[in-house]
Amino acid sequence: MVWLDKKVLIIGAGVGGLAAAVRLLGKGYKVEIYDKEKSVGGKVNFIEENGFRFDLTASIFMTPDIYKDVFKYVGKDYKNYLKLEKLDPIYRAYYADGSQYDFSSDLVKLTKTLESISKEDSIGYLKLLSDVYEKYLIADEFFLQKTFDNVTEFINPVTVSQALKIKTLSNTYDFISRYVKSEKLRQYLCFQSMYVGSSPYDSPNIYTLIPAVSHIYGLWHLKGGMYSYIEALEKIIIELGGSINTNVNVEEILISQEKAMGIRTSSETKLGDIIICNADFPYAVKELIKDEKPKGIYTDEKISSMKYTCSNFILYLGLKKKYDQLLVHNFYFGDEFKKNIEAIFKGFLPEKPSLYIYCPSRIDKSMADRSKECLNAVVRVPNLLFNNIKWDVNTINLFRNKIIQTIKKIKGLEDIEKNIILEKYLTPKDFEKLFNSYGGTAYGLSHTLTQTNYFRPQVKSPTVENLFFVGSSVHPGTGVSIVLLSSKLAVEEILKDNKIGKN
Ligand SMILES: Cc1cc2nc3c(=O)[nH]c(=O)nc-3n(C[C@H](O)[C@H](O)[C@H](O)COP(=O)(O)OP(=O)(O)OC[C@H]3O[C@@H](n4cnc5c(N)ncnc54)[C@H](O)[C@@H]3O)c2cc1C
Repeated sequence: MVWLDKKVLIIGAGVGGLAAAVRLLGKGYKVEIYDKEKSVGGKVNFIEENGFRFDLTASIFMTPDIYKDVFKYVGKDYKNYLKLEKLDPIYRAYYADGSQYDFSSDLVKLTKTLESISKEDSIGYLKLLSDVYEKYLIADEFFLQKTFDNVTEFINPVTVSQALKIKTLSNTYDFISRYVKSEKLRQYLCFQSMYVGSSPYDSPNIYTLIPAVSHIYGLWHLKGGMYSYIEALEKIIIELGGSINTNVNVEEILISQEKAMGIRTSSETKLGDIIICNADFPYAVKELIKDEKPKGIYTDEKISSMKYTCSNFILYLGLKKKYDQLLVHNFYFGDEFKKNIEAIFKGFLPEKPSLYIYCPSRIDKSMADRSKECLNAVVRVPNLLFNNIKWDVNTINLFRNKIIQTIKKIKGLEDIEKNIILEKYLTPKDFEKLFNSYGGTAYGLSHTLTQTNYFRPQVKSPTVENLFFVGSSVHPGTGVSIVLLSSKLAVEEILKDNKIGKN
């Protein structure tokens, strides 16, 4: 490899920072990564205790080509680092009335499930998949895989005509309801669209592409859990000669005459030619850029006035018994679904929570001993900006009990409480403290129409030369694969600046 005489400093070893490092090392840049935590991965992290391994947050692995592309870019074969297993069915959905359905990415199996609900909805559901698939292809080509450095790149005849085809204006729930009548199917589709952390009653319908893409392309499980992707990136960075420095808190991005010059950590100053900030954008602009001018339009007032995603409460359970009725990915839909989802976005805990239950030990013995299960019960909760939930021991215990009582409603899981041998939890306060996630959100800035595409913070700073951003709160948005795209876009911008070909 030809080493370039350019040093890149990366603040944050989240998946965005790590993937950017791999790509730049592959191009011959010198790369140093600094993260405040003791392990790399940011929110994609793990808890290992008493023979159980829990994925800390992300668990749903979709669009594998985006993950594999990072390996391909540096001439590595992903198969030497990762073991993928295709899931079938992709989800099991439990409902408060005791019914349950399996959803497959196999068309025959999916159609059978849909027909068991109603033939009319089966037709509607397949039409929805087809229509959203078309939107996905447009979004991928014209919006997700490109940057918007100026307004004319976004508002021009081509993008405007494509944006009109996507028709994102109606909200997710209304859009889905046009295709299917069954509330059960609507809940199933809405809940997945909520992976971007917005209410389906108040978010553009483009995020229906999440369930559609899962059905069309499938879902996979990574052996060892999502963290094995982080371990693979870490390994490649070391192999390519990058340096990873954990337990280092960055306190300032050093800027002089509108040019990024380096970083100041708690113990020293590091100079670099290019700075990539993977710390959450709103936090970073507010806390790490000290002067007003380089913040550009993102003044402290602007950051406070922007819209933010919800947070999560996660209960991690190590169980001394196998639960054959669970798949890797499961949902439980509680009564009064709409009321309880809307409560979260008004600042209240759901009284009758709907749950996502992740149980990787169903198929992966590296996550728990053969006779045991590890399970994450994930509930959407308000972010800390609402300021009305304390997350003290009392709140946590009450909410924990509510979740356990909810899980017990699933047939076959009634005895779960007495089989718990390890229990941990994560609250919005942890998102704020561990990862500097602004407002303790799980997914960063909301994906409203006025905070997406050109209107979302871009990967290249418009005000500071040599400063770039990657991560959930910048374009194209949240989710591991989408953050991987932000890294790809940031690296392409760097190469363009340095007049280096992108392939
Ligand atoms: C509960 C939950 C479930 C999710 N589920 C899925 C899923 O199933 N599938 C999926 O694709 N996505 C999922 N996501 C989304 C996905 O995990 C995130 O979008 C992605 O991991 C964000 O990566 P990132 O690189 O933007 O930043 P982060 O992971 O936030 O990393 C930022 C890093 O910067 C570091 N940092 C911050 N400030 C400083 C500082 N001052 N100095 C040094 N270091 C600093 C932090 O320690 C952290 O390591 C989920 C997210 C959550 C919270």
